[in-house]
Amino acid sequence: MRIDVVTIFPEYLAPLRAALLGKAIEREKISVGVHDLRDWTHDVHRAVDDSPYGGGPGMVMKPDVWGEALDEVCGSGPQPPRLIVPTPAGRPFTQRTAVRWSAEPWLVFACGRYEGIDQRVVDEAASRMPVEEVSIGDYVLVGGEVATLTMVEAVARLLPGVLGNPASAEQDSFSDGLLEGPSYTRPEVWRERPVPDVLRSGNHAAIARWRRDRALDRTYRRRPDLLERLPAEALDKKDRAR
Ligand code: SAM
Repeated sequence: MRIDVVTIFPEYLAPLRAALLGKAIEREKISVGVHDLRDWTHDVHRAVDDSPYGGGPGMVMKPDVWGEALDEVCGSGPQPPRLIVPTPAGRPFTQRTAVRWSAEPWLVFACGRYEGIDQRVVDEAASRMPVEEVSIGDYVLVGGEVATLTMVEAVARLLPGVLGNPASAEQDSFSDGLLEGPSYTRPEVWRERPVPDVLRSGNHAAIARWRRDRALDRTYRRRPDLLERLPAEALDKKDRAR
């Protein structure tokens, strides 16, 4: 998968080359390009923002600079990419989004700052390529860089060969619509707190049932909205008996 990011703070994207993502780049599972939006300015101040039409606080990112940047970055492949525009006003980014994007050959992220990017940039790009405006949660960050890091990490770990053990992604929270239950490792007793007996029993069926029950309990307490959205066939007889 190819990933390009356009930003006014390229240094903010340094973690893209660290840890798991860095290894994925080394193993050529993903290639990453980070582009400085100011490279497409033509004035001495390298301005990327201007005051909003209609008045109001803050500044808006200029369409001409973004337009040229996206023409060049998105026009550099045989097919146009999927353009992702992080914004708190977007549709929620979820694990389902990450799974869908993990099948894409090329994603381009356009990181906004200030009050965001002139809407015409998004609308015009949508006439030439698939575009999604997405939010990583109901809060407001100062820029799209952290949102992009979040989304790239969620997508990259789903690509074949990126995680050491692919089964861990299959068992994670959200993969079956539930939150994952608690995990434990050695020592068996820590600060007078023992690991649950069943996990040391070697009885795989009992362990699977215990994990499923803990996942159901945790989801019920912390995210009842997930249970409400679960299709009826996702729950077995024992689940329903709880
Ligand atoms: N005026 C915008 C609004 O109220 O919807 C907020 C702009 S925010 C201060 C600046 C930039 O941060 C956005 O263009 C976007 O790139 C990024 N951003 C902030 N919160 C975000 C979120 N929850 N999800 C994704 N991106 C976000």
